[in-house]
Amino acid sequence: MLAPLLALAQSPLDQDIAQIREQVRFVPEKALLQLQQMEPVARSAPALTRAEFLAQLSLAHRSLGKHDTALALAEELYDFGVKQDSKAIMAKGLLIKAYVRSAMNERQISHELALEAEKMAADTNDLVLRVQTTITAGQSYAEQGNYPVALSRLQSAVEMAHQVENDKLPLASALNALTLLYTQMREFDKAWETLGETFEVTETLNSPGRMAMANNAEYGLAVDTQQYKRGMRALLANLEITRKLGAKRMIATTLVNISDVNLKLHDFPTALRYAQDASAAARDSLDEANEATARINAGQAYIGMNKVAEGKKSFALGMAYFEKIGDKPDLQALLAEYGEALERAGDYQGAVEAYHRERQISNEMFESSRKKAVWELQEKYDTEKKKRQIEQLSHENQAKGAELTARRLQQRIWWLLAVVFALAAVIVGLLYRKVRQANAQLEVKNLELKAQSSLDPLTSLYNRRHFQEYMRTHNQVERRGANGEDIVGALFLLDVDHFKHVNDTYGHAAGDAVLKMIAESLRIALRETDMIVRWGGEEFLAFLPAIPRNGVEEIARRILSCVSSQPVPFQDHMIHVNVSVGFAPFPLAPGGSPLPWERAVNLVDMALYLAKAHGRNRAYGVRGFSNFEETSMEAIEQNLEQAWRAGFVDLTLVLGGMPDEPPPSNVVPLKSKSGN
Ligand code: GH3
Ligand code: MG
Ligand code: MG
Repeated sequence: MLAPLLALAQSPLDQDIAQIREQVRFVPEKALLQLQQMEPVARSAPALTRAEFLAQLSLAHRSLGKHDTALALAEELYDFGVKQDSKAIMAKGLLIKAYVRSAMNERQISHELALEAEKMAADTNDLVLRVQTTITAGQSYAEQGNYPVALSRLQSAVEMAHQVENDKLPLASALNALTLLYTQMREFDKAWETLGETFEVTETLNSPGRMAMANNAEYGLAVDTQQYKRGMRALLANLEITRKLGAKRMIATTLVNISDVNLKLHDFPTALRYAQDASAAARDSLDEANEATARINAGQAYIGMNKVAEGKKSFALGMAYFEKIGDKPDLQALLAEYGEALERAGDYQGAVEAYHRERQISNEMFESSRKKAVWELQEKYDTEKKKRQIEQLSHENQAKGAELTARRLQQRIWWLLAVVFALAAVIVGLLYRKVRQANAQLEVKNLELKAQSSLDPLTSLYNRRHFQEYMRTHNQVERRGANGEDIVGALFLLDVDHFKHVNDTYGHAAGDAVLKMIAESLRIALRETDMIVRWGGEEFLAFLPAIPRNGVEEIARRILSCVSSQPVPFQDHMIHVNVSVGFAPFPLAPGGSPLPWERAVNLVDMALYLAKAHGRNRAYGVRGFSNFEETSMEAIEQNLEQAWRAGFVDLTLVLGGMPDEPPPSNVVPLKSKSGN
């Protein structure tokens, strides 16, 4: 935003104000008149023009010592900037306020305003304004005795000013200020070098006021390097310029400086004359500072002329001003000069007092700069401490954040594990249930299988294998009944008579129906606890574990009759069947030693054979053995009938009745010796 410059160059009003700006510093009364004339137009001009107008109007009043008006205008300028929301205008307002406060000798306030203006201007693109505010900030630091900061500010002001196009004024200002600072810092080589640059730039400006300022700088530097003649030349050139300009304030300053050089040259009367002229000129332009300096110079001149009392009086008047404004560096330098002058005049006591005062101020300055240094250190420390605290906090936050994340992760892992375990448990549970179901099914199947393996599929009676298993695991023991009767087990073996005939006549299915009927009849005729077995094709075995010994024949009869009395309906026929039976009590103990069940069954089978042989539909039972010592089991088994006839075996015969007839009621005991 180089607009202010361009705008100033473009509008006639801006050009007028730019012209006046040159005069404000040197001939403020003239400038004020011109500004007042353009006021109505300027106040309604565009914002930036109006702002520049207000700035110059304030400065003009300031130069004329009308500080209140100047301050009010500066404040108006600042408020205008706020209203316009323009940082450039606000910064300009602050800067002008700083100038006015400086003229009012309110240095502290002025410095603060200058720094504020600099900061605000830095936020804008107005390069000229930034150069201006930076110069003023640098000068403020220099006034505080903070030369390093002042130097860096003025150096950067010069650098910035180099970037300003189409206007060398900011550069001339910056270089001039830098020359003065180098001089103040007693960096004379740098000061001369910078002064050369200042003149180079200033000559291009064609501005007598600016040239006067450069001459002033040369004078200061010349004097400080003891080149009084050169200093005097610069001053005389300035006197001519300022008089031509009618720049009262600068005339006074020049006169003061000429008196000063004369003092240095020990031309006290000339110094006094110039000092008195300066004093008058300063009063005329309401320039207290110059007046005070002129007084001091006059004092020095008096002292140099051995008018010590007058000199001291004049000195005191001048120094009061510097005391008032608190300009310690100036005061210190003045006191040193004062002391020297008194010493030269032989007023040693006065000289010592001046030195003491000078030391005191020097100490105060040192103390204040020490405090400042400490304060700056403290501020830096505090800033770093805060930074560290913030870093620590951020570290702690990060740590806490990490901890939180870790905890959250951990929780998530636990949840996941829980879910996994729950799922696993469910799966295991399901599997377990399945396994149990499978096991249960297996058990059922096993039971079924076992049942199947022990049952005959056609008749659902036990099969031979089951019976064998049973006999292997059960010991048959003779027992006595409740009323003392002999309780025994008994074996009955049945074979269907002429079964082939049934099959042949009615078919195999009819045979099967017959077998089923016999099984059913046996179940009815015998007890639950009796074991009925399908022994073979059409052979059945019944094992009765406990019956009275004399009830065995009755069972045989019941078996015969239950079969023969139950014709089997098949298609439109009723099939009548009989069975032949062999039986014996169990166990049998020929000669006192019990026969194994297999041999017992074998014997019963032989009895069955007898029944077949002797007419069928009957039962033969082995009751017991006689004279067993005369025979052997093998011999009996070989031929039961022969053994019976020989009297070794006791048999009974039970006859079955005719089908459809009631069964015969009697049991026929067979006696070997009585025939049949
Ligand atoms: P016997 O009076 O001498 O015993 O004459 P039988 O006709 O019964 O003669 P045998 O005992 O020799 O004949 C048995 C027949 O029983 C042979 C066989 O065909 C038949 N058979 C064996 N098992 C079954 C079966 O499960 N169903 C049928 N329908 N017939 C069978
Ligand atoms: Mg048979
Ligand atoms: Mg048969």
